Formats: sequence, structure tokens, C-alpha cells
Amino acid sequence: MSRYAEPMARLIEELKKLPGVGTKSAQRFAFHLLRAPDDEAEAMAAALLHMKESLRLCSVCNNITDVDPCVYCSSETRNRRLVCVVEEPTTIASVERTRGYNGVYHVLHGTLSPLHGVGPDQLRTKSLFVRIEAAEVDEVILATSPTLEGEATADWLATNLRLHTVKITRIATGVPAGSDIDYADEVTLSKAIEGRHSI
Ligand SMILES: [Zn+2]
Repeated sequence: MSRYAEPMARLIEELKKLPGVGTKSAQRFAFHLLRAPDDEAEAMAAALLHMKESLRLCSVCNNITDVDPCVYCSSETRNRRLVCVVEEPTTIASVERTRGYNGVYHVLHGTLSPLHGVGPDQLRTKSLFVRIEAAEVDEVILATSPTLEGEATADWLATNLRLHTVKITRIATGVPAGSDIDYADEVTLSKAIEGRHSI
């Protein structure tokens, strides 16, 4: 039997589902919310529901967005013939912080991971090939992380993209090998994109 009243135990169980949140943190968050004014807890619950209701994936690039196509795909000033392929939508924010990239994106929502049963069909690769087959793309920058799985994903994409007439580049090794691209600072990431090479 739980040490807490049922509503508290239920909230703690839900909070524990968040990445990086263990029992201790979940308890701390739950007690903070219990002590917080009602309107604060209500605002948080409302924000959560609003986010779930209003966000969807961009039908072009799979970025998470509240307008479809997303702000990058519908921008008049962006170069739509240059596509940066990233693992997660969070990487877009990292690339945008560099202020040096003016192309558009394609979000895979993961990396190839045979051990975890993630093959090309589990990633959003098909829509990338649709974009390229429509001859709307000159260059694809493979900006997956320089981790084992990120490299395997870049290799798989490069092999399959070579069947099309499109320039394929890989970000330079400025991002430390084995690290997640999202943790690279702006200067490192900016240099990695600038120093990209054909593969
Ligand atoms: Zn988009």
C-alpha cells in the first residue's frame, strides 16, 4: 500500500513517467504542486492539455508545430532546396540558435537501432524521399548525432539517397564523437554545418 493518499500517489506515478524523473523528484514536484496556489496548478494542467490538443507534426518536414506547414516550411525567406536532416525536433532549436542556417529541415523522430527494433520504416524517412523525388531539393545535410546510432542512420540515408540526383553532405566532426548533437554549443554546431563535406 502507498504511503500517500491516492490522489497524491497517482500524481507521483504520472510524474515518474517523465524522462530523468525518479521517485524522489516526482515526490518533490507533487508536493510543490500541492502547496502551490490553485490557479498555478490549473495553469500547468491547462498548458499540458493545450499543448497536446494544438500540436501536430508538419506534413512536410515532421517538425512539431501548431500551424501546418510549419514556420520553416512556409517561410518565404528560407531556401527550401537545402534540407537539414535531424533526429529530433529539439535539434532544430539548436541549429536555429546558430543563426547561420537558412534552409529547411526534415525530422526523422529517432535513429536506426536494430537492437531496439527501430528500422527505416519506424523512422520518418519515406516523406524525405518523396521530397527528393519531387526534385524539390538540391542538397541534403545529414545532421544526425555522431553517435553509433546517428552514424548508422546517416550511412543508411546516404546509401539510399545516392540513388537520387541530390548532393549529400555530412556535418563536420566539430561535434564531439559519441555525443548528442543537442548538447553541442552554437559555435561548434555552426562550424559543423559550415564545414560539412560531401559523402
Ligand atoms: Zn515543416
